[in-house]
Amino acid sequence: MAENPIQEPDPPFDLSLRPPGFEEFHGQEKVTERLMLMVEAARQREDVLEHILLSGPPGLGKTTLANIIAGAAHSTIHTTSGPQVEKAGDLAGILTNLQRGDVLFIDEIHRLHPAIEEYLYPAMEDYRLDIIIDSGPSARSIQLNLPKFTLVGATTRAGMLTAPLRSRFGLVNRLDYYSLEELSTIIMRSASLLDIRVDEGGARAISARSRGTPRVANNLLRWVRDYAQVRAEGLIDSVTAGKALAMIEIDDDGLDEMDKRILETVIYKFNGGPVGLSSLAVAVGEDSSSLEEVNEPFLIMQGFLKRTPRGRVAMPSAYQKIGAELPAGGGQGELL
Ligand code: ADP
Repeated sequence: MAENPIQEPDPPFDLSLRPPGFEEFHGQEKVTERLMLMVEAARQREDVLEHILLSGPPGLGKTTLANIIAGAAHSTIHTTSGPQVEKAGDLAGILTNLQRGDVLFIDEIHRLHPAIEEYLYPAMEDYRLDIIIDSGPSARSIQLNLPKFTLVGATTRAGMLTAPLRSRFGLVNRLDYYSLEELSTIIMRSASLLDIRVDEGGARAISARSRGTPRVANNLLRWVRDYAQVRAEGLIDSVTAGKALAMIEIDDDGLDEMDKRILETVIYKFNGGPVGLSSLAVAVGEDSSSLEEVNEPFLIMQGFLKRTPRGRVAMPSAYQKIGAELPAGGGQGELL
């Protein structure tokens, strides 16, 4: 094995903002309620937790929840990610290192190589690893028994998970974008951990531009703190937050330069769409998977874009957003 596929721990800064337990994790009530119940049920039966799948756009708290789950179950967590497990041997190395009750967290599980995924099926179902050694006529399989463990998988693309893998998780926990109130609470919590002075208006102004995403909220808070320190004697109110965020070209709805470029491209270059994802990605100079996982879900949720079988289409509010004239008939979005 060339490289240890277990990830380095997060930088201390991010870790310091990560809620350590369910009680400090705000929002996603339905999901956290279910997870708490599962942990409690396993504890009562003195059993190991079932495998858990967490899905949703980046930055909504999947890694955080995996750590919280392991903490609540008093388990040790081992972290890796789909692309890091390059060979079956990597996976075997990880699995054979587990103790009973440990949590194995696989981020971006949809990016696991299909051949490696197949090794996971018996490991998840029967806690067994079938390894093929040698090739040709002398090839044989040896079976290793594994301790009972919990796999926590995270994915930004639940739809890309193969059916056999998906079915080995009890239930899919989908995380949604956070409400403004939830984000404000998260910002206030981060501010107090980082010793930042922010008033309610300031927290609201930042949360409104955070794309429903705690990671974005924390990042914006850090930037606004720097701005406030130099230009506003350290206090973040709504005016200071607004000015700080305007300086990095984030508008009132949280749209950044790339979002606006996407809308402009669909409207001006592709006549409002429909346009396929890969053509759009080339036109805006962005990688198509990050377009699909990061920018698009937010633009769709906000009603600027629509995904149709024929491609992406700009909605009337997108025309309004970039100050373009709506074509007669209300644009393509109205027709599809
Ligand atoms: P994901 O794994 O879904 O990409 P993370 O778990 O890494 O997201 O979360 C990103 C950041 O957002 C973390 O640093 C964490 O501090 C913060 N965060 C996420 N969800 C919450 C929450 N519900 N409450 C407070 N902070 C959160």
